[in-house]
Amino acid sequence: MQRKVGFELHSSKVSAWYLWIVVSSNVVIDGVTKPTMRRTDSTPSDMSSVKRAVRSSLLALYDTFIFDADGVLWLGGDAIPGSPEFVNQLVDAGKRVVIVTNNSTKTIDEYFEKTKKLGFKVEKESIVSPAVVTAHLLSESGNGRSHLPVYLLGTNGLAETLAKKGVQSFGVGPDHFESYTDTNFVMKVDTSRQIRAVVVSYDNHFSYIKLMKAINYLRDQDVDFVATNEDLTFPGPHKDVLVPGSGSIVNSVRMAAGRDPVVMGKPHRPIFDFICARFGIDPKRSLMVGDRCDTDILFGNNHGMDTMLVYTGIHNSEDLTRFESQGRTDLLPKYFAPSLNVLLSE
Ligand SMILES: [Mg+2]
Repeated sequence: MQRKVGFELHSSKVSAWYLWIVVSSNVVIDGVTKPTMRRTDSTPSDMSSVKRAVRSSLLALYDTFIFDADGVLWLGGDAIPGSPEFVNQLVDAGKRVVIVTNNSTKTIDEYFEKTKKLGFKVEKESIVSPAVVTAHLLSESGNGRSHLPVYLLGTNGLAETLAKKGVQSFGVGPDHFESYTDTNFVMKVDTSRQIRAVVVSYDNHFSYIKLMKAINYLRDQDVDFVATNEDLTFPGPHKDVLVPGSGSIVNSVRMAAGRDPVVMGKPHRPIFDFICARFGIDPKRSLMVGDRCDTDILFGNNHGMDTMLVYTGIHNSEDLTRFESQGRTDLLPKYFAPSLNVLLSE
C-alpha cells in the first residue's frame, strides 16, 4: 500500500510545477524506506501538511546536503529568494551542508565572502570548486614536470587558487590577434616555453590566439590537458541572454586538439573523490541539489547520491519531459521543485 504525500507548487496554462513524493512501504533500500517521485496533475488539498511531510522525509533520509551554487543558491550577485533560509535551516538542524560549484572564476575566499553577504551560514571549508580540486591534484602529481608552469585559459581567481598550492601559471588576460599580424591569418605562435599542462576554464578573454597556443602545447602528449568543468552555459540574471560557460571553450580546444581533457568538476569523479576525502560523506545519505541535469543531477546519479532539481536556473520540467522521452534516465532527478523556497518550514 502506498501513502502519497506531495504538493503542487505552482501551475499555469503551459506548465505545472509540482513535487510529489510517493512513500512506498515496498521500496526499502539498506533498511531505509525510500521515497520515489512521480509527476501528477492533481492538487493536494492540504498544502501545509504536505510540505511538512516532504521536509521531514528529506531530513530523515539525508545527513548531507550538497548544493550547486549558480541557479540554486544565487543568480549573479543576488540570492535566490528562500535559498539562504533553507540552507540555514539545514545547518541549524545539524545537517552537513556542502556547496559544490562548477564555477572556477573566483577564489574560495571570494565565494565565502559572497555567502556571508547573501546570508548563508556556511563555513569556508564547506565550499568546493573545480579550481580547488585542480590545484590539489596538480600539486600532488607532476610526472617529472611539477616545477613547470601551466598554460591557463582562465581568470585571475583560478590563477590565484593554483598559486596557493604552488602551481604557477601564465596566460590569464587578453591575447589579441592584432598583436601577431595585420592580415587575416596567423601561421605561427611561440609555444617554446616548457609547460606541464594546459588548464582550460571560463576565460572571458578567450581568443583565436589562445586556442592556437593551447592546441600547439597539447601536441606534446606529456603535457596534461585539464578542464575545470564542461558547463556549456551558465545561468545569469537575464533569462533571455545565454552566457557561454567553460564547456564552450573546453570543446573548442578539444575539437581542435583532438584530445580529451581530464575534467575536474561535476559530473566527473575528481570532485566527488575530493569531497568524499574532505568530508567523509556517505553517498547513500546525501542529497545533491542542482539546477542542471547534465552536471548536477548526473553527478549525483553517477556517484550513488539522491538528487533534486530546482527550476531556478538552467533546466525545468519541460527539459525533464524531453530527457525522459530520450530515455536519458541518468539525467532525471529523484525529486524536483520550483525553488528551495517552497521547502522552507513555516
Ligand atoms: Mg548551476
